[in-house]
Amino acid sequence: MSLFAQHPTHLPEKYLFIKTYGCQMNVYDSDRMAELLHPLGYKKTDNPSHANIIILNTCHIREKATEKVFSELGRIRKLKSAAAKKNKRVLIGVAGCVAQAEGEEIVARAPFVDLVFGPQTYHRLPEMVRTALRTNFSFEAGSKIIETDFATEEKFDKLGTDPINPTNSFITIQEGCDKFCSFCVVPYTRGAEISRPAEQILKEAESMVRLGSKEVTLLGQNVNAYHGTESSGKEWTLGRLIRELAEIEGLERIRYTTSHPKDMDDDLILAHGEVPQLMPYLHLPVQSGSDTILQIMNRKHNISFYRKIIDKLRKARGDIAFSSDFIVGYPGESDADFAATLKLVSDIEFAQAYSFKYSPRPGTPASNREQIDEQIKSDRLESLQQLLDAQQLAFNLTKVGTTQSVLIEKSGRKESQLVGKTPYMQATHFCGPKKLIGRIAEVRILDGFSKGLAGDIVKEDKINSIQKPDQTQTEGQFLESQNDWRNKNHARV
Ligand code: SAM
Ligand code: SF4
Repeated sequence: MSLFAQHPTHLPEKYLFIKTYGCQMNVYDSDRMAELLHPLGYKKTDNPSHANIIILNTCHIREKATEKVFSELGRIRKLKSAAAKKNKRVLIGVAGCVAQAEGEEIVARAPFVDLVFGPQTYHRLPEMVRTALRTNFSFEAGSKIIETDFATEEKFDKLGTDPINPTNSFITIQEGCDKFCSFCVVPYTRGAEISRPAEQILKEAESMVRLGSKEVTLLGQNVNAYHGTESSGKEWTLGRLIRELAEIEGLERIRYTTSHPKDMDDDLILAHGEVPQLMPYLHLPVQSGSDTILQIMNRKHNISFYRKIIDKLRKARGDIAFSSDFIVGYPGESDADFAATLKLVSDIEFAQAYSFKYSPRPGTPASNREQIDEQIKSDRLESLQQLLDAQQLAFNLTKVGTTQSVLIEKSGRKESQLVGKTPYMQATHFCGPKKLIGRIAEVRILDGFSKGLAGDIVKEDKINSIQKPDQTQTEGQFLESQNDWRNKNHARV
């Protein structure tokens, strides 16, 4: 039975505010935390000043993220203080990878924090909250409950599976990492790689589809290293898991992220051509276009290997779109190394990508190397992002004039506007009634921008009557004029 269906109605209303930083896995963890606290009577709120519990679910990947957490804690301290003056107790929790890595520092720098817990211990949150509420109430000194061990008990057995956004659900299938890239904190904050049992994942996906999910995204720091076992003890690869998931009736879209190039085996590559539910979009981080840099990053793949994987995937599924992660200004990166990154990007043509300046992380090998000048990092990031943005726009424009299946996720910012995703992960705006949220609609793409598409829901006989927007308009102007036009012409579905 759904955890939310079991909500105890006799308890007084209490509110939970969670701010999530970083990757999709943190979003997943935050949703599970909300579920865990629901039976204790906590409902989610978007307003931290209404909350009885405030949790920051943090990310430690780059330095700025950590500093952002401390400045957010400064703001939250004021809320806690204002509530204390009205005799209201607010519990403050810091979760996620910053909590895991810097638990002691958090309580030292922000002593009003009550709970500090890592990604492997958040299933104990209800008990932590009960314990904190039993401790004496003092505003300046929080309860100082720190749980940052790598728990041995099965975290996933204790978690619920309700999709918070029922349209497209996320399932963590694998956690942690054994690869130890020399820049990355993940092996230290999330621990050694583990894969969840295969049948447990199938059951979770089935229940999500029953609750209305049309799309499931499989999550893991190294998701394609998945090697979960079935009850007989036999190991499944990610390719096998995807093929089994595709048998679930009503599951129309399958995605997975984040993958490591080294773990793209042939069966997984072939699945892209053979499993229609597997979406033609893959996030495959390469980090750098230079073999020298990849070697000192301890990436365990070189550029010719990466290019071969991309070629094989394009052969398996002609229309597949690629995304990637890049780090610029890595210690030792020369002009020639950076030029190799630009060359790789030009050759591959990414549909979208994330790019970052290298950020030294304490405890990782690269942080001890001689660092590159900050201005050089900024200049390189700017030129790489210009190229990536141009490629994203070019990719989006290739879809103008086509009709795309869009999974409608939510309302847009404008009235009667809906937002959804194409199979290629392009955010697509169009007008229509809210009741379509959660459904897949055919949308005629009218225009493409660097960050998405705009279009109109179509019926075959109406395609030709759609107005083409003025090409000189900005994205905002277009969306606005499209809305005006829709309002005058009534929404057609
Ligand atoms: N497992 C994935 C892989 O192998 O590519 C990456 C996961 S990591 C959580 C997400 C991204 O953050 C990385 O791909 C990398 O580009 C970026 N990242 C990690 N550590 C970084 C650092 N110290 N400085 C800048 N970017 C970093
Ligand atoms: Fe970090 Fe990914 Fe490298 Fe693992 S494979 S250490 S998660 S970048």
